[in-house]
Amino acid sequence: MKFVGAHVSASGGVDQAVIRAHELEATAFALFTKNQRQWRAAPLTDEVIEKFRSACAKYGYTSQQILPHDSYLINLGHPVEEALEKSRDAFIDELHRCEQLGLSLLNFHPGSHLSQIDESDCLRKIAESINIALSQTQGVTAVIENTAGQGSNLGFKFEQLAEIIRHVEDKSRVGVCIDTCHAFAAGYDIRTEETCEATFKDFSDIVGFQYLRGMHLNDAKSAFGSRVDRHHSLGEGNIGKTVFSYIMRDSRFDGIPLILETVNPDIWMDEIAWLKSQQIQS
Ligand SMILES: [Zn+2]
Ligand SMILES: [Zn+2]
Repeated sequence: MKFVGAHVSASGGVDQAVIRAHELEATAFALFTKNQRQWRAAPLTDEVIEKFRSACAKYGYTSQQILPHDSYLINLGHPVEEALEKSRDAFIDELHRCEQLGLSLLNFHPGSHLSQIDESDCLRKIAESINIALSQTQGVTAVIENTAGQGSNLGFKFEQLAEIIRHVEDKSRVGVCIDTCHAFAAGYDIRTEETCEATFKDFSDIVGFQYLRGMHLNDAKSAFGSRVDRHHSLGEGNIGKTVFSYIMRDSRFDGIPLILETVNPDIWMDEIAWLKSQQIQS
């Protein structure tokens, strides 16, 4: 079973995201549970939590179909202790919000070394941040997203994702989300069936599909290997549609949220319908 949707707006309240997903005929969705550009957010009220949970029940979304994304401000590999503490506290708060909403996944960007510490130190700090956060929360899996490798962002190589996971104590609560635009920009070719086979074999060998908890389906405005993160609508960018059809026909991507973060929300409904149409009819 494939779960397909988009990263929908939660403006007006997190329950509104559920309704927006339903209106798109989505079978999955992503959302921010707080403003992604601010450190602080008011705690979720019992009323909001209840509205979100009942909307999910009404429209048939279980926690395995929902992939919340954390704030862009958080850097779990921050080289400066005080800033690292702030990020760790904010990440724990994000996990608590997920717990309250009955969600079981939290998608985040691993972190950046800011050219102040070396790559392996930064990866260790990220893993340590995950260990601390998991020890203070329950039931939510930390889902590391691969990055395009812009600036000093880590997690653009499968080896880096594997290295973080290696240092996480509770392997049952760590996973990854692969963003197709980020992978392509980081130098993983996925333009043809053959290159998809090779790239996902690399992923399987280096990270392992048992850790795959979600996918972000985005075409790329940025060039292959450019390390620049610019999303595009499916089929309109430099990747083309092959990989998206490939994913929809491959059972290794069953049972996880497949989320559009494409640039034109007006065509999300069409993009979702097209993705669903790519599945082999049984
Ligand atoms: Zn992301
Ligand atoms: Zn993404």
